[in-house]
Amino acid sequence: MRIEFVFGPLHAGNLRNMVNLTVRDPLGFRGTGHRQGNRHIVELGPAHATPGYLAGPLQAGRWEVILHTHLLLSDVRGELRVDIDDHERPPFESGAPNLPAVRPPEPGSWMMGDLHCHTNHSDARWTPAELALAATERGLQFLAVTDHNTTSAREPLRALAPGLLQLPGIELTTYYGHAVILGLPDLHDWTRLTIHRGMRELASHVAHERGIAVIAHPLRAGDPICTGCTWTYFDWRPADTTHLEVWNGPWDGAHNTSALELWYSLLASGHRVIATAGTDAHGPAYHPQHGFTCTPATNDAATLLEQLRRGETYLSRQSNLTFAVHTPAGPAGLGSCAPAGRWTATVSWRDLLPGSTLHAVSDGRREVIPVEHTGSHTLHPTVHRWLNFEVRLSDGSLHALSNPVFAQQAPLA
Ligand SMILES: [Zn+2]
Ligand SMILES: [Zn+2]
Repeated sequence: MRIEFVFGPLHAGNLRNMVNLTVRDPLGFRGTGHRQGNRHIVELGPAHATPGYLAGPLQAGRWEVILHTHLLLSDVRGELRVDIDDHERPPFESGAPNLPAVRPPEPGSWMMGDLHCHTNHSDARWTPAELALAATERGLQFLAVTDHNTTSAREPLRALAPGLLQLPGIELTTYYGHAVILGLPDLHDWTRLTIHRGMRELASHVAHERGIAVIAHPLRAGDPICTGCTWTYFDWRPADTTHLEVWNGPWDGAHNTSALELWYSLLASGHRVIATAGTDAHGPAYHPQHGFTCTPATNDAATLLEQLRRGETYLSRQSNLTFAVHTPAGPAGLGSCAPAGRWTATVSWRDLLPGSTLHAVSDGRREVIPVEHTGSHTLHPTVHRWLNFEVRLSDGSLHALSNPVFAQQAPLA
């Protein structure tokens, strides 16, 4: 089957109109091609499909082609043509790259991964093979590919990099916000969401299914520069979410500083929101300022998902920190909750750049400690709400951000 959709004009001033296609067959979702351009060609066959779409038998019955008008700044006319045949098309990708071996996680160590990245199955430049190569070269040990509104890159990535621990992911790319959904096999229908209704139900459904819904880049510039990139849902605000992406793309994006401030203000008002990072990489390479997710080593996807859910994570350019927090109730991992009081915390690091500083943030108060290349520091803060850490480079930019250990006040007698 071949579907072709052409529309015009493409350009509206300096911006480009954007219309994408979703295909549904009698059994359900067959893919979305979330990408720029005004000529969309979708080829579907039993063994191969255009990136973004799913190969498989062509079932007789009712098919649907859905047009998503992500950005229309001018009058647009389009033509849709569907040719039904049973020619098998050649595969779009050939050959697997020679991947360096993925270093198996050592028990007791921390591992590093990316929870938000794209391939040419949506609008990225790199193929799943090129992403897998970059991820293994960067030393990543887990990955969630989160293409816009489609799942079709998951299987090729699994086949290409079986040593890389993978979680099912997607970036629901809606008109009023982008949400990274982790840990669920199925796609959620976002097309019925309005700015006032639907996101709260969707987020609670994800939580009920034991997935994670992350508000992605909540404060990135939105319409019409990047449609839906600012989070504007009224029924699911950052204060309602469990996970908020505070490090999106390279750190120096101004939206990241604002997202970090937003996160601290949520902590200060008593919300237990877990901070997340995603490179949002679209190829052709990872960037030195990308933030990854570090979590205790495991080779079990369910354990990884659970650690991410409770925030046993720090976000960093490199997996070179460890944290040990002791409270009156015993040791407490990042993301956990412990009785308020006087705690002892030790942070250890290696391979930090000259001029780096460690910031201990307890209840919003910041203690700044100069650090050497490799070493450790112990402090004894009195904590009423939370304790977390940052490592900043000499130019003030973020090297790492830990999730908090949260403090719980004793109930009133
Ligand atoms: Zn996005
Ligand atoms: Zn993205």
